[in-house]
Amino acid sequence: MTLTIDEMATFCKRKGLVYPNSELYGGLAGVFDYGPLGAELKRNLMREWWRFFVQQREDIAGIDGAILAHPKVWVASGHVQNFTDPMLECPKCGEKQRADHFIETATGKSADGLSRKELAAMAKELRCPRCSSPWKELGAFNMMFATHVGPVRDDASVAYLRPETAQLMFADFRLVAENARLKLPFGIAQMGKAFRNEIAPRNFLFRCREFEQMEIEYFIHPKQLMECPYVGEVEKLRMLVYSAEMQKSQRDASEMSLGDAVTQGTIKTPWHAYWLGKTFEWFTALGANAAKFRIRQHLPEELSHYALDTWDLEYAFPFGWKELQGIANRGDYDLKQHMEFSGKDLSLFDEASKERVIPHVVAEPSLGVDRSFLVFLYDAYDDDKKRGNVVLHLHPRLAPVQCAVFPLLSNRPELVEKARTVHLLLREEFSSVFDRAGSIGRRYARQDEQGTPWCVTVDFDSLQNDDVTIRDRDSTEQKRVPVARLAETVRALVRGKPFSGL
Ligand code: ATP
Repeated sequence: MTLTIDEMATFCKRKGLVYPNSELYGGLAGVFDYGPLGAELKRNLMREWWRFFVQQREDIAGIDGAILAHPKVWVASGHVQNFTDPMLECPKCGEKQRADHFIETATGKSADGLSRKELAAMAKELRCPRCSSPWKELGAFNMMFATHVGPVRDDASVAYLRPETAQLMFADFRLVAENARLKLPFGIAQMGKAFRNEIAPRNFLFRCREFEQMEIEYFIHPKQLMECPYVGEVEKLRMLVYSAEMQKSQRDASEMSLGDAVTQGTIKTPWHAYWLGKTFEWFTALGANAAKFRIRQHLPEELSHYALDTWDLEYAFPFGWKELQGIANRGDYDLKQHMEFSGKDLSLFDEASKERVIPHVVAEPSLGVDRSFLVFLYDAYDDDKKRGNVVLHLHPRLAPVQCAVFPLLSNRPELVEKARTVHLLLREEFSSVFDRAGSIGRRYARQDEQGTPWCVTVDFDSLQNDDVTIRDRDSTEQKRVPVARLAETVRALVRGKPFSGL
């Protein structure tokens, strides 16, 4: 049985994964704090993304830009003008609702892709949920948080907290390309905080006002749109595909290989297929359930002001199929805008074609950390009735704790001392905790619930033979391993060696 999002929030609070922010004072809507276990899981998730998409690639360099930027960055990007949500306001009681969400809840129909005109027409039929008055005309609400830089609080000192990490990859484009000696095609990646004053934050971590993103801007020579040298890596991947045309003709999404989707023209460029496939591969390699993913093309009326084509990677959350990652083809929109607003040349000399070009961003994979955190939790969560406790089947690279070391009996100093030595040995390389509180069964259950893949127990035989038992979280199988081989054994398990093969 799948947990509702509220039940997941309760579980996260109980286990120290995520808390409502400043709950002591009644909380702040759409803002959350990651607790001891959550901070580790989130850090691991982000480290794995960085390893896969930055460190293990030669064509991508990473940056760590600031949260504040010159306000012109956001004028040039179009955010000051266009980063708005459609808003309904009640003229009588002042109630404010995000129009598309309100219409979806009130009518039970999807509002994805509806134009402002269509939303306004539908809102005319509906009433304010608080006082039943008709709504005012459809308004727009800019979601950027503004602040002031310096001691004077006037229009000239306004700056924005970044609503996405992406723009700095454009603003720093020339410097990064030169410093990292990148040649087209190449990408610039960044992960970190983003802030959006969402009208209606909801569904726990899914829609927050402060969240984190992991983003790549991938630049190509404008003539390389149909030439992705890496597409072979994903061609055979089969995914549930939901094109704009399938949505318009009210057909169901259909499973196909990404190679076929490109050949048939469903996905217009091999680059899009490549980046959708790579993210899918990243999720599933870390234990996410492939059957709960699909890719959906934006309807023409849904496209952002800059985008030529956009596909979302979606996940079947308990509240429906929702976006995890958007992958837009932004063309040369951003670099051109920044050239115009800054007056600086951002073109690049491409040695292969001997041409000076303004590169195109063929894909901008933009993934939410907090939404990914939810995905890994949902797919790991298992209320194991036989064991009588929850088991989080988290991938060992994501698990907040990789090994828990126990003395069999907590009142025997010789066992406690040896277990501590084993724990310190493991801690040099892995995340390990030492736990002597409660019965062994209780300690196993506690570690199962927080997703610890291996529990290591020191018993009386360990004192004689210098070995330990290691217990596998998923199968509960146990093996004896010499202490001298313990680190090497755990290393092999983390790398994917099956426990049964020890
Ligand atoms: P949505 O339509 O759900 O509001 P979006 O299209 O505005 O999302 P993007 O601007 O494409 O989102 O942002 C990229 C990614 O950042 C999203 O796919 C999502 O994973 C994450 N993200 C965006 N807004 C939020 C938010 N308010 N809370 C948590 N994550 C978010």
